[in-house]
Amino acid sequence: MGATVIDGNAVAEQLRAEIEEELRVLRLSAVRPGLATVMVGESFDAQAYEKHVRRLAEGLEYRYVSERLPADAELADVVATIGKMNADPRVTGVLVLQPLPEHVPEAAVNSALEPTKDIEAVHPLNAGLLAQGQPRFLPSTPASCFYLLDSYVTSQGHDASTYYSGRTLVVVGRSNSVGKPAQWLGLERNMTVITAHSRTAAAGRLGDFTRQADILIVAAGKPGLVTGEMVRDGVIAIDVGINAVKDASTGRTRMVGDLDFDGVAARAEAITPVPGGVGPITDVWLVGNAFAAAAMAQRVEPRFGLFR
Ligand code: NDP
Repeated sequence: MGATVIDGNAVAEQLRAEIEEELRVLRLSAVRPGLATVMVGESFDAQAYEKHVRRLAEGLEYRYVSERLPADAELADVVATIGKMNADPRVTGVLVLQPLPEHVPEAAVNSALEPTKDIEAVHPLNAGLLAQGQPRFLPSTPASCFYLLDSYVTSQGHDASTYYSGRTLVVVGRSNSVGKPAQWLGLERNMTVITAHSRTAAAGRLGDFTRQADILIVAAGKPGLVTGEMVRDGVIAIDVGINAVKDASTGRTRMVGDLDFDGVAARAEAITPVPGGVGPITDVWLVGNAFAAAAMAQRVEPRFGLFR
């Protein structure tokens, strides 16, 4: 079976164009999004992500604020910076870039965010609303997985509002930012959800569960973790992982996902590549959430309702 390779770049461009169009309409209602990023230290990943998000936001004529703190900043400094963004009426969405230095506790940083500006839904209030099926914002990575899935199943002639019901979703990974919200979004679609993690693998049982998936979302950060023999024929496989590996033949570093792409593609109905799958949509979704926050602040309903 030759799997369909889902083109994340094309879907991301379609989503960006929808945001642009909706912004054009809502500017008439004086909705002006403003995005702030807060970076602590100078990690390569955080800087690369900030660059992407900034380019997108400025391309859509958002206000953009970049706050940078040194790697030795104390928690109190980070909280004070977040407080400044919380209080700034020109900022409608705040993103704290990962990773944070080890001495800065993530939970305290998340709780410092004003919930109406917490566009990644990491504040306990927003995470709780999401877990209860009443999201204020959909966090960008798990939302992008389902946006891609919706786009694919619709392209196959299915109705995305009923397609998932009763199917089995297996999520590999249980982080607060990806794995847990992905399982909540699956439950909202009436799927039977299994969540696997490092202890599942340590017990030697990962394949027992991944083989049950109609839809598989893998977010573990382990290159090639899920192989062809660990999936069933006809699975739809979404690869969130981004791993830098050295190519043995060329010596060059390249990005790969958590799926053994060729092995899984040989059995799957559809699969996302890395790069060019989930990643490009994530950036656009985040920027879309800053726009949704601006609309909500003005008590205007976003027309497509995509972002919540
Ligand atoms: P975390 O490190 O926070 O979580 C990883 C999860 O994977 C944990 O729950 C861990 O289990 C589980 N895990 C680790 N090893 C195994 C294993 N051998 N078998 C099964 N499960 C395992 O990572 P994130 O959730 O933040 O990110 C996951 C991946 O997704 C990373 O590669 C990251 O770079 C990428 N990513 C990509 C994005 C995109 O836009 N495409 C956005 C965000 C992340 P346990 O809880 O037991 O430790």
